[in-house]
Amino acid sequence: MHHTDFEYFHTLLVHEVGNKIGPVAPTITPSAAYGYTDAKEAEGIFASQVNKPLYARVGNPTNAKLESILAKMEGGFGAIATSSGMGAISMVCTAFLSAGDELLCIGGFFGGTYAYVNETLSRFGVRNSFCDVDDFAHIESRLKKGIKMVLMESVGNPSLRLPDIQAIIDLCNRYDTLLLIDNTATPLLLRPLLMGADIVVHSSTKNISGHSASLGGIAVFREVKENGDKLHNPKYTDVHKIVKKMGKKAFIPICKKRAIRDLGMTANAFGSFMTMIGLETLSLRVERINKSVEKIALMLDEKLPKGISVNHPCLHSSPDHTRYKKVFSDGCGPLLTLECGTKKRAFALLDRLQTVIQTANIGDNRTLALHMQSTIYSDFSEEARRFLGVTEGLIRVSIGLEDPIDIAEDFLQAAQGL
Ligand SMILES: *Cc1c(COP(=O)(O)O)cnc(C)c1O
Repeated sequence: MHHTDFEYFHTLLVHEVGNKIGPVAPTITPSAAYGYTDAKEAEGIFASQVNKPLYARVGNPTNAKLESILAKMEGGFGAIATSSGMGAISMVCTAFLSAGDELLCIGGFFGGTYAYVNETLSRFGVRNSFCDVDDFAHIESRLKKGIKMVLMESVGNPSLRLPDIQAIIDLCNRYDTLLLIDNTATPLLLRPLLMGADIVVHSSTKNISGHSASLGGIAVFREVKENGDKLHNPKYTDVHKIVKKMGKKAFIPICKKRAIRDLGMTANAFGSFMTMIGLETLSLRVERINKSVEKIALMLDEKLPKGISVNHPCLHSSPDHTRYKKVFSDGCGPLLTLECGTKKRAFALLDRLQTVIQTANIGDNRTLALHMQSTIYSDFSEEARRFLGVTEGLIRVSIGLEDPIDIAEDFLQAAQGL
């Protein structure tokens, strides 16, 4: 069974974010441009041979500090900080996919990602197919076709379905196919790069910051192997020149030269500073919130009135309970959902909440709730909503740092007599 070493991360994060000598808090370097020592150095910087800032669209020293911490946290080789979580996902997809390629999407997605794949990427000629997390026949059939990339979330949002991540990683590696995992819901609880995945992205707006004061994203990459790397497969011919020149760290220049440079989804220094202020307490918050989620789910499961039910994989009623115990022994993130049966009852429950905030965020230090069908998924077809597990009475809840008993009681008083 896998366990998260929270004590290790408590020490690592505060010391990685802070400095022992000089200014203890991270330094903000807001400059857009950077003077080069001489013409030769400029040439070296542009050739990625000298590691100094070039121009802030392709990186700055504050981003670099955040990137090095998150690479270490995820067990990766390097990282790129982006303007938002969607920026990280679109950067990776743009860097590797072209018109005519196909993206395999496993499980239900966050609304923004679902729309990006279905509307924007397909408008640019990148096809897609979606399948259930356990539809291995479909997964293998697409991998056999020679597709270039697979995208998956560590925990389905809002379905809370848990994929068999190791099995999917192994399959992607067998077929030399890039696997991008959105680990937004489960930082520290799951480290997909150490399990063999290629790229991990986060919306750092969520758990990593926690304070809701900074929009940001991150993509973390594994090292490119000298021999037998999947990037050497002929299907990735259009990045071979960069792989050959940049070796182990090739994922970074591939994303910078094929997406960031032209599209500009870069993080800014102040945003990265704010992200680091949140990041230094991430492990404390993740440890507490995941304990609270279980406590609240169990209490609601026992005490909610008939007609309203709670869904979380820690409950025996969840189809993924066994997988939860095996893979997510320290929790699967801040989310749980409530099924109220009808939109009317869901609205009534939400509007009676005293402490819980109604908003479209997750992973906040405060507990948040939102009716799914009428908000994030309002533009979606009935068929898409069914696939994503969005029903008329569904409320998504993201648990925060408050006293879990207070939060459970807030939901219980709001559900009384509905
Ligand atoms: C919020 C979220 C995103 C998008 O992140 P932004 O920072 O809002 O752009 C992507 N994936 C998941 C799972 C999210 O929850």
